[in-house]
Amino acid sequence: METQKIGGKTQLYGIFAHPIKHSLSPFLHNQSFLDNDIDARYLAFDVEPNEFDAAMKSIQALNIGGLNLSMPYKEKALSYMDELSPEAEFIGAINTILNRDDVLIGYNTDGIGFVRSLEAENIQLANQRVVLLGAGGASKAVAYQLCQNHVKEIIIFKRKNRTFQEVCNYFKGMSEKCHIPIRVFPYEDHLNLNHKIKNSDIIVNCTNIGMGHLEEAMPINDLSILEKNQVVVDLIYQPQETLFLKGAKKRGCHTINGLGMLLYQAAEAFNIWTGSDMSISNIEETVKRKLYKEGSTS
Ligand code: NAP
Repeated sequence: METQKIGGKTQLYGIFAHPIKHSLSPFLHNQSFLDNDIDARYLAFDVEPNEFDAAMKSIQALNIGGLNLSMPYKEKALSYMDELSPEAEFIGAINTILNRDDVLIGYNTDGIGFVRSLEAENIQLANQRVVLLGAGGASKAVAYQLCQNHVKEIIIFKRKNRTFQEVCNYFKGMSEKCHIPIRVFPYEDHLNLNHKIKNSDIIVNCTNIGMGHLEEAMPINDLSILEKNQVVVDLIYQPQETLFLKGAKKRGCHTINGLGMLLYQAAEAFNIWTGSDMSISNIEETVKRKLYKEGSTS
C-alpha cells in the first residue's frame, strides 16, 4: 500500500479489542485516509481487560481522533462517553467513538451498515416483513435501523433461556418507541418459526450458527420453506457463504452475506470521524482477497 508521510500533525485513530488477531479495520481506514488525502493513521490495539480503563483514559490524553470498539468492549465503553447518539443509547452498545475537542461521543454503526449493505443490493425495506434469528447485540442494532427504515413488522426468534423475558421487554420498548410491531418468539417452536418465515419477505441470521465450531450447522431446520421471492441475509461473512446461504441460494432466494455490513459500518465510522466517504467499490476486491485468501478478520 502506498503511504503518506507521518508528521507532527498526523492524527491517530484505532480500534480497541481483545483478542484482535488479523484485523481488517487498519487496512480499510488507512487506505481511505490515503484515498481522501487525510493526514491520519489507524492502528489496532489489543487491549487487555485489566488495561481497558487506562486505554479509555488515553483517548483524550493522546488526542486520539476516534476509535472503533470490538469484542468485548462495546458495552463496557458506554460509561466513558460524554454523549451518545440516539441509536447507541437505544442499543446500549457502541462500536465507534468520536473525540470532538475532548468530548467523547459514542455511536453504533452496525445497524446503518446492515441497511446500507441491503440498499447496495437494491433491496427495498419499507413495508417489508422481516424475521430476525437471534436477539444479541447485532440483532438489536439491525432491528433499530430496520425500524428507522419503516419495515412493516419485525419477528424475532430467541432461545427460551434466562434472558428471554428481558429481551422481550427490550424489544417491546423498541416497538413502542419506533411505532413498528416487533414480536419475540421462542426459537424452539419450529412450527411457528416455519410459519413466520414462510410469511416474511426478508430473513436475517443474527446468530453465530454457521461459523466457528457451528460452521456445519444451520439456523433453521427446513430449507424447503424458503421461496425464491425472499431475501436471505447472514450477518456472518467468514465463511464467505454459510450452509444457510448455500441452501437458500439453491431455493432461488436472493442471498447476502455479512461482508457488506462490515464494510458499510466501517464507512459510516469513517464518515463520522472525517466527514469524507470510504470508497467501498475501490477496496472491496482487496478486502475479499484478504478475508478469503489471506485469513484476516474484522
Ligand atoms: P451475541 O450478542 O452473542 O448474540 C448472539 C445471538 O445468537 C444470541 O441471541 C444467541 O442466543 C443466539 N445464538 C447463539 N448460538 C445459538 C444457537 N446455537 N441456537 C440459537 N441461538 C443461538 O452476538 P452478536 O454480536 O449479536 O453477533 C451475532 C452474529 O452476527 C455473529 O455471527 C457475528 O459474527 C455477526 N456479526 C456480523 C457483523 C458484520 O459486520 N457482518 C457485525 C456484528 C455481528 P441467546 O440470546 O439465547 O443466547
